[in-house]
Amino acid sequence: MKMRRTAIGAALLGAVTFAGPALAEQFITIGTGGQTGVYYQVGGAICRLVNRGTKDHNIKCTHTTGGSVANINGIRAGDLDLGVAQSDWQYHAYNGSAPDKFPDGKFEELRAVFSVHPEPFTVVARADSGINTFEDLKGKRVNLGNPGSGARATFEVVMDKMGWSPSDFALAAELKSSEQAAALCDNKIDAIVFTVGHPAGTIKEATTSCESKLINVDNDKIKDLASGADYYSMATIPGGMYTGSPDDTTTFGVGATFVASTKTSPEVVYEVTKAVFENFKRFKKMHPAFGNLVEADMIKNNLSAPLHEGAVKYYKEKGWM
Ligand code: GLU
Repeated sequence: MKMRRTAIGAALLGAVTFAGPALAEQFITIGTGGQTGVYYQVGGAICRLVNRGTKDHNIKCTHTTGGSVANINGIRAGDLDLGVAQSDWQYHAYNGSAPDKFPDGKFEELRAVFSVHPEPFTVVARADSGINTFEDLKGKRVNLGNPGSGARATFEVVMDKMGWSPSDFALAAELKSSEQAAALCDNKIDAIVFTVGHPAGTIKEATTSCESKLINVDNDKIKDLASGADYYSMATIPGGMYTGSPDDTTTFGVGATFVASTKTSPEVVYEVTKAVFENFKRFKKMHPAFGNLVEADMIKNNLSAPLHEGAVKYYKEKGWM
């Protein structure tokens, strides 16, 4: 019996060898975000789909936390192969228009793979904080978000637009997204500011563990900011999605995108792209924030860097380009 199995194994091995060179084993790492956000789920979902096909393509996928800016810089440094990043930070990285976040200048090798879910700029305040409008944040204890996250970087842009600086807050915390709901409900902070897809675990946690509510972010300065760039748009968080917020919340937002660099191998990007779109129904079921995704939009919306050649190969095969 044992002998026979070995013989069959050898025959199979022979078949593989004759069929042509299989890709050498490759480990790839996708940069995502905090465990209770949506990026972490995007990365996890993509890795699960890739890893289902490891026997065919020999790629094994893992994912890390960090956030948009850290992910883009990690890809540039060669520490990450792919990553999730907000549309505004994809734009600034590629165009070199945010040197404080991307100190090495234009990241011309940055490549887009596809866009994912919308990410509204989200403010959640404790019900007892006295915060009813976005302007009320001034003087309160606020979580700005961790450096490296796109959420923090976008809040810095908003603060600038509002004429605020961190010293305008009674406390300017730099908590990771996975820590902020507990801080809010332990009354260590009055409000969370987080650019994230919905529904998000961290916002669910914040709105069910204590009395809190979403705040509209739609004053004239914000509308002006949103209309000033293609990577921004006004956004709505549906009423009833979270406890304590029965009405729609109006804010502005960005889009989550999936990116790589010209140094990421075309075979890897092709296989990852294929794993997502060949299992698209399954992918969409992996998180409610993916529910409205449409293939045709994903390959063009919110992408400012050129598409990666590995992704283009797959899109052409499908007749999408
Ligand atoms: N948009 C956030 C960022 O770039 C991450 C959101 C999430 O974790 O889903 O930092």
